[in-house]
Amino acid sequence: MLLLLFLFSLALGAAPLSEEPDFKLQRGGCRPFWYSFNGRCYKYISTPVNWLSAELHCVSQRANLVSIHSLAEQNFVRSLIRNFDPSERPAWIGLHDVHSRGGRWSDGTAVNFRFWLPGEPNNQKGREHCVHMNWGSLKRWNDIPCGNGYAFVCATRICY
Ligand code: BGC
Ligand code: CA
Repeated sequence: MLLLLFLFSLALGAAPLSEEPDFKLQRGGCRPFWYSFNGRCYKYISTPVNWLSAELHCVSQRANLVSIHSLAEQNFVRSLIRNFDPSERPAWIGLHDVHSRGGRWSDGTAVNFRFWLPGEPNNQKGREHCVHMNWGSLKRWNDIPCGNGYAFVCATRICY
């Protein structure tokens, strides 16, 4: 028994720092599989789909594609993705030309924070009307064709 306890305490102490998440995801008051940050609930969906399907899926969950309003929120969303996908592949966020020309995210909130990769958005060949995050080695935002398939993050406007 003592030996077991000893081995258990060794195992607890052995987790290398590099494998610790930045911070523990908190469910807070959110539904199962949704995580809480600053009064909103967020969910990562790994299935790659086009931007519109991603937004419609979020709407079907009483949410929208995630809007990002601060570096703290950007860091949270990146950690949420990393928690499920250590390789941090790109994921759709709620920016689309139709909304963003009006200065709005798909959830209707104002665009007041930006995290573009340098040189973006470049609307390459005039065909890039949607935005994903985790692009390039800097893992920042890039505009890309809306028909491409990516994982995505939904967020509620309020906490539920
Ligand atoms: C460009 C991006 C573009 C992407 C399309 C990259 O080389 O830097 O702006 O969105 O290609 O695949
Ligand atoms: Ca681009």
